[in-house]
Amino acid sequence: MNQPTPDIQQRAAQLRSQLQAASYAYYVLDDPIMEDAVYDRLYRDLQDLEERYPQLVTPDSPTQRVGDTPATRFTSIRHNIPLYSLENAFNLLELAAWQERWQRLAPEANPIYTCELKIDGSALALTYENGLLVRGATRGDGTTGEDITQNVKTLRSIPLRLRGENLPSVVEVRGEAFLSLEMFDRINREREQNGEASFANPRNAAAGTLRQLDPRIVACRQLDFFAYTLHLPDGEECPTQWDALEYLKNLGFVVNPHRQRCASLEEVKAYCDRWEIERKNLPYMTDGVVIKLDSVPLQNQLGFTQKFPRWAVALKYPAEEAPTQLVGVTVQVGRTGALTPVAELQPVHLAGTTVSRATLHNRDRLVELDLHLGDTVVIRKAGEIIPEVLRVLPELRPPGATAYEFPTQCPECGQPVVKPENEAVTRCVNSSCRAILRGSIAHWASRAALDIDGLGEKLVQQLVERDLVRSVADLYDLTVEQLASLERMGAKSAEKLVSAIAASTQKPWSRVLYGLGIRLVGSVNAATIADRFTRVEDLAKATAAELTAIYGIGVEIAREIVAWFQNPANQTLIKRLRSAGLQLQGAAPPPAATTLPLQGKTFVITGTLPTLKRDEAKALIQQAGGKVTDSVSSKTDYLVAGEAAGSKLEKAKKLGVPQLSEAELLEWVSPKT
Ligand code: NAD
Repeated sequence: MNQPTPDIQQRAAQLRSQLQAASYAYYVLDDPIMEDAVYDRLYRDLQDLEERYPQLVTPDSPTQRVGDTPATRFTSIRHNIPLYSLENAFNLLELAAWQERWQRLAPEANPIYTCELKIDGSALALTYENGLLVRGATRGDGTTGEDITQNVKTLRSIPLRLRGENLPSVVEVRGEAFLSLEMFDRINREREQNGEASFANPRNAAAGTLRQLDPRIVACRQLDFFAYTLHLPDGEECPTQWDALEYLKNLGFVVNPHRQRCASLEEVKAYCDRWEIERKNLPYMTDGVVIKLDSVPLQNQLGFTQKFPRWAVALKYPAEEAPTQLVGVTVQVGRTGALTPVAELQPVHLAGTTVSRATLHNRDRLVELDLHLGDTVVIRKAGEIIPEVLRVLPELRPPGATAYEFPTQCPECGQPVVKPENEAVTRCVNSSCRAILRGSIAHWASRAALDIDGLGEKLVQQLVERDLVRSVADLYDLTVEQLASLERMGAKSAEKLVSAIAASTQKPWSRVLYGLGIRLVGSVNAATIADRFTRVEDLAKATAAELTAIYGIGVEIAREIVAWFQNPANQTLIKRLRSAGLQLQGAAPPPAATTLPLQGKTFVITGTLPTLKRDEAKALIQQAGGKVTDSVSSKTDYLVAGEAAGSKLEKAKKLGVPQLSEAELLEWVSPKT
């Protein structure tokens, strides 16, 4: 047998204790300390280690048990039939592997499945004797649960007496008690008003409610219940899961209507794909799809592992958060000299892509995270937004890990960096720093500025390295010969680029102003300012008071503009741009008289956008004919979501409101030429 190294033993022990703590918080306290997706990945890590080194398995390992020991508030009850957990599949490949596994045990059997939505609530075990509800219990650790009969009786969708004649003497029913999203919001609002902590999610709220000591509170919260498993005495079982669900309906239970019988894995996949989208329109939370072999004799033949039935699997929806290990930190220098730390990560698959880098925002954030090299970090990727490091799991820190120190010198030019007291960013203030130059050229060439086709990042890097360009004005002196001598540039592309640069001299004054990269002057502000100061010489003379008189221009922007024009190097730049033929005057282009691109559409903005300020994004949308409101509702057409988007994003997801990134918004509103 392979012997695990001390490092591996340590990691397994850390994972075990972290997962145990999380399980306790989740199952017993109903107050999770980590996201389900993060739990699931760490659980997989532990499972992988235990598979490679079986000697690492301990009897109390979370991989060996279902749920957690029930709390002692209620009387314990031993289940007549144990309640198992479900094996998880995190993608369609794992689903196919599960099918292969059961087919090896029953090669002749037909792959006919009943697919059901996986309701994100709390499992209940109900016992009926001679048609009467005699007991309701929580799942607990699968063998022993809590007797919560009095609470269960307050759920209106649980019949106290079964419908029908000639009922079997004992009927065991299992299903999910859950809270509608509406009820969940209402409970949390009330808790906030009473100064109580809100529930993390509807599942925890449902589980917490079921374990209330006062059944009146349970009754007020209006839990719902979907039945999904039926146990009848031997010889009286239904032949299929599908029939069992129909039977449950006839007994008076609510059975989720969105079930489907599938005759192949392809049909199952189509069902899963469909519900991954449509679940957003449901009034309750689901966290996946449960796929069960339909034939009950086949289920009996396959049986159970220690933890799961072999005949069922839960396909979980892709997560937006995952744990991974921090390999290192690099620091990027942007066009304003701002230093942005970036986490270099052990690649991890997340929401459809492999993530190996994530932003750490700034030095303050690093201090807050107390990041150590080798740390396990939780990363988040919401929608199209750049992944970010959300938090660190210090319990999983390798022994002897060193804390990461933010550089005191610019990683590009070696000059000392400064951190203005009132700002979050640390900056390199060396105006000849090559990183700043590269950033300002890339900004000048960007779509919303001078839109120079073909002047990409790699090329900018070469131009700066070879000293061919020291300011954006130098771009206009570049020759075809100079460009053709660069790597991966032929004569044809060099010619094309020279004409693209020449064509940029025709771009309007507002775009030139934006391209100058004056701090805080976004594309919308640039257009507003260019509209009021139609000539660069007038703007250069403008006072802060004249600038703040423009609607939407604040004191800080005005200060930056005045300071920029006072700098002699910038005055020279303007002169050179004038001789290169750039448009330094002229009114901003009038908005098209006919339909504007966002006409009739309603937007909500949330989170921090990568470049635009909230007000700028709002003005941009309004200029393009759209309307911006504060809260997400069914009338919202799009949610523009940035980093750290919170409840609005959640609500938009629930309502199925499509999301837009800043890049997509800019693309949509930028003039098509
Ligand atoms: P599970 O997610 O593995 O699935 C089993 C449960 O699914 C059943 O007990 C039942 O309650 C439910 N279910 C819903 N609809 C169903 C249907 N139609 N048919 C059958 N079952 C259905 O549940 P588990 O074993 O309780 O817990 C494991 C999961 O709990 C983990 O994957 C993790 O996501 C979460 N968890 C999270 C934390 C945390 O810290 N966030 C801690 C422990 C567990």
